[in-house]
Amino acid sequence: MKKFKFDGLKQAISTAKNMSIVSHRNPDGDAVGSSLALYICLKEIYPEKSIQVILPNKYPAFLEWLPRQDEILFFEQNPSTSTEILEQSDLIFTLDFNDFSRAGHQMAEVLSALSTEFVMIDHHQQPSEYAKYLYSDTSIGSTCEMIYESFVYLGFKDSLNQQIGECLYTGIMTDTGSFKFPSTSSRTHQIIGELIDLGVENSKIHQNTFDQNSLNRLHLLGVAMQNLRVIEQHQVAYISLSQQELDQHQFQKGDTEGFVNYGLSIKGINFAAIFIENKQEQIIKISFRSVGDVDVNKFAREHFDGGGHKNAAGGKSNLSLEETIRKFEKIIKNDY
Ligand code: 5GP
Ligand code: MN
Repeated sequence: MKKFKFDGLKQAISTAKNMSIVSHRNPDGDAVGSSLALYICLKEIYPEKSIQVILPNKYPAFLEWLPRQDEILFFEQNPSTSTEILEQSDLIFTLDFNDFSRAGHQMAEVLSALSTEFVMIDHHQQPSEYAKYLYSDTSIGSTCEMIYESFVYLGFKDSLNQQIGECLYTGIMTDTGSFKFPSTSSRTHQIIGELIDLGVENSKIHQNTFDQNSLNRLHLLGVAMQNLRVIEQHQVAYISLSQQELDQHQFQKGDTEGFVNYGLSIKGINFAAIFIENKQEQIIKISFRSVGDVDVNKFAREHFDGGGHKNAAGGKSNLSLEETIRKFEKIIKNDY
């Protein structure tokens, strides 16, 4: 059963003059893919309307091939224009997040002050209550899959094209770990089939996204593997990367994407973490991954000011890198 609460949404879209599409801070493939797919589709149907994608900040270089990304506005670079556009919007789509705080402090403040109607399409747990139109389902592997279902529901399917397909394919692919996570369903594969029928060159998308390594990134991966530690009796593995190690390899946004998964690939490990020092923001950014019943969303919420999904979550710490790891080890050894 699909969980749409979209009564009146089609009418709201057709009467709105100005619409915005926003997603979370540090946007990933699902965030950028879903935003661009919805943008291109709405533009296709309503070319006369003013529609703007606004992302809190830049995404990694490996997504820079996505179609029509040059039309995206970044809040961090253009706070006043972005605020103005948000304030003038009759309808705001919030994709791949469910709490304004995930848009980052500044943009969250702007969004919270608006009395505009919001649409939420998202697959994370515990949604906040700001949306008039809602499609929230934690069992679906990606927001891009939900955008496809929304297009079907709203009767937009005939307007889909190759570019929209490329954006959706990318988000479904990245958020399902290239179709291997348990959230990948037969419906996911059906949708992927339909996207290929739209002209999406699937193997090219994998190449464009994943075969973009710099030598520096691979050397940094080497350091991460050297720093990999295992707490055997608790089936936990973790990696740390200091600011110095990042600097030594000319760290670029996105370079550490996927590193945390190596911990999970060790035989017997069902909980993996990576701790990445960010001197500029004075935080340690943490990613958690798990398999089976280990709930890292709960763990991140309880201990590291974060959240996400049951098997993939993130958080942060204001302690030093060493202190953060010590805190983590202590929680683990007390059976969290
Ligand atoms: P990643 O580890 O790839 O950054 O994030 C994994 C998942 O956890 C994503 O679904 C992301 O939205 C969520 N997540 C990452 N960091 C945070 C955080 O600081 N707070 C919350 N609530 N969710 C996060
Ligand atoms: Mn997502």
